[in-house]
Amino acid sequence: MRFHVLTLFPQMILDGLNTSITGRAIERGILSVEAVNIRDYANNKHMKVDDYPYGGGAGLVMQAAPVCAAYDALAERAGRPLRVVYMTPQGHTFNQQMAQDFAKEEDLVLLCGHYEGIDERALERIVTDHVSIGDYVLTGGELPAMVVIDAVSRLIPGVLHNEMSSETESFENGLLEYPQYTRPEEFEGMRVPQILLSGDHAKVDQWRLEQSVARTKKFRPDLYEKYISKREQAE
Ligand code: SAM
Repeated sequence: MRFHVLTLFPQMILDGLNTSITGRAIERGILSVEAVNIRDYANNKHMKVDDYPYGGGAGLVMQAAPVCAAYDALAERAGRPLRVVYMTPQGHTFNQQMAQDFAKEEDLVLLCGHYEGIDERALERIVTDHVSIGDYVLTGGELPAMVVIDAVSRLIPGVLHNEMSSETESFENGLLEYPQYTRPEEFEGMRVPQILLSGDHAKVDQWRLEQSVARTKKFRPDLYEKYISKREQAE
């Protein structure tokens, strides 16, 4: 899968993603992350990409022309229109289902705003999806874009060492994941639950499901309600 990030701070994207699991996947050619500097598409000698908002008010707004030109260059190279996700606090809140949907794309463009945001005309022309990472305002779209790329990447076959691990994780079945333990068996007087040492896989699976349901009820009652009503419908 190819990610293309339209940003004023390309180094931030490259520094953030070229390490750890995403970095390894890039090295192995399973993913590519291209950070396109919107400033390279400014058509004035000072390479200015922002200006004051019409109607007055605080801050600066990113201009439409360089954003559209940066996108056009990508679309022209691909030979087709591309899906463009604008990272914005005004978008739909990002979740695992969206990550699964984005993971089906061969190319995904992530557009990062800065300052007061981007001229609405550019958004109308190129954006297909508006996505927020939560109800708070950050200084730029780079961290949100990295959040989306990280979550989508781990769903691409081959990115995680163990293919199973993304399937059993929180949200994949509408529940939070069960608690995990590793060696030693006893830590500061606290023992690993005996059932995990029993070698009885069916019992372990049953225990994990019960734990998942219990912690979803405790930490995310909204998800728990959905899980219960789906289960009742299926019965
Ligand atoms: N004036 C905008 C508003 O009130 O909706 C906020 C602009 S914010 C300071 C600058 C940029 O950061 C946005 O264009 C967006 O790309 C990014 N951003 C900030 N918070 C975000 C969030 N919660 N989710 C996704 N992107 C966000």
